[in-house]
Amino acid sequence: MMKRTNMAYCLAVLICAFAVFPVAAQTQPGQPVLASSAGTAYLIRAGRLIDPETGTATANQMIAVKDGRIVAVGANVTAPESAETIDLSQYSVLPGLVDAHNHLALTYKKTPENDVYYYTYIQDSTAIRAIQAASNGMQMLSSGFTVVRDLGNNGNYADTALRVAIEQGWIPGPTIINSGIIIGGVGGQFYPTPEMAKEHNIVYPEYLDADTPDEIIKAVRQNVLFGAKVIKICVDCKPYPYSVEDLKLFIKEAANAGGLKVAGHVQTQEGARRAIEAGIWSIEHDIALTDELHKLMAQKGIWRVGTETPFTEYRGTQAAFDGTVARLKSAYANGVPLAFSTDADYYVPGMTRGQVVINFLKTWKAAAVPDKEILRIMTVNGYKVSNIYEKRGPIRAGFPADFIAVKGNPLEEIDALRTVVFVMKDGVVFKRDGVMTPEKFLHGGPVNGWRIR
Ligand SMILES: [Zn+2]
Repeated sequence: MMKRTNMAYCLAVLICAFAVFPVAAQTQPGQPVLASSAGTAYLIRAGRLIDPETGTATANQMIAVKDGRIVAVGANVTAPESAETIDLSQYSVLPGLVDAHNHLALTYKKTPENDVYYYTYIQDSTAIRAIQAASNGMQMLSSGFTVVRDLGNNGNYADTALRVAIEQGWIPGPTIINSGIIIGGVGGQFYPTPEMAKEHNIVYPEYLDADTPDEIIKAVRQNVLFGAKVIKICVDCKPYPYSVEDLKLFIKEAANAGGLKVAGHVQTQEGARRAIEAGIWSIEHDIALTDELHKLMAQKGIWRVGTETPFTEYRGTQAAFDGTVARLKSAYANGVPLAFSTDADYYVPGMTRGQVVINFLKTWKAAAVPDKEILRIMTVNGYKVSNIYEKRGPIRAGFPADFIAVKGNPLEEIDALRTVVFVMKDGVVFKRDGVMTPEKFLHGGPVNGWRIR
């Protein structure tokens, strides 16, 4: 009996030592957000402070930042000791933006693969893709995106490598909510050759095959083991979609394995119907969603992560865009919870990943969603669908100091978001006067601790 108690005590201590510290560092006011932000102190003067939740702006506000955290917000706040003052009085200051569906470790190109991403998988190793992800992450941060949900097609967990590198303190980047490898029925989204499918070679691992209940549980656990923060599945990528029971098992095991949510790639109405019935957290892509399905999603509060591609000189067609806009109008009219999302995974010469992403504003404007609503969707809804709203995002005392500044007022003209002049992440300045300043984020070791994995 005694022995048991001792063992339980030892276990508890071990678990605390290994698990609790990084979490506590993220959540407890009074401690630095991250070790790398310790000692930072700023007084920010905001010409206009925007609250996307209420769609209001307040003139001449101040934000006090200390040890990576917002300590006070108001018209007249005391500067923290030895604080540097940053004058953003010519700008609007607002919370960071969220892309709820991106693929930072995948970039397919016209040359040499003619935008066929099968070939990208063959050509680019996980290692090079992880480095692409590091660069894409910084490009996103420079465009004001402080949170990215990174939903698979990232080789052998390059997305986890990116998240860990950012959290340990090697490089700057957004807060990453990553999925690890997409789980699907055998073949995933691919039509692999037998050699590829059976040897799991060349293009794998892009998908985890899971057809039976045992395989579903195992696949979820593998992703959690290798650092996933959300579970991404292919609901209906094949003529053998998951059943409602399968989907419920995913949801149950994801909840069991770290309290994660399930994001479902959906491309058929039947798949959407099953996902909605199972009570999935989010439906990724809008292609299958009808007015009726939108009504069901609204009733159940299921997130719509529509990845609404605009029609541009480099992508899309007028016909496809018309459909996308009509579906978005239907979703908005039905009160479906909406997220700003892009599925960005390609190279447009002359544009950064962040510029490709912000250009998705075109779709939201075409759907006549009011500017204030677009801003709320890109911020508040983004934190909610990322399941971090309680601990990161809003400009509020006690929260990590993540915010951006833009020219103009995005509540009245959403395209103001295209000109991000200032970015602070975890209380450290990443961009100032329109120029990236990554130096303070670069370290020769895991300054925030190697236990962040
Ligand atoms: Zn995608």
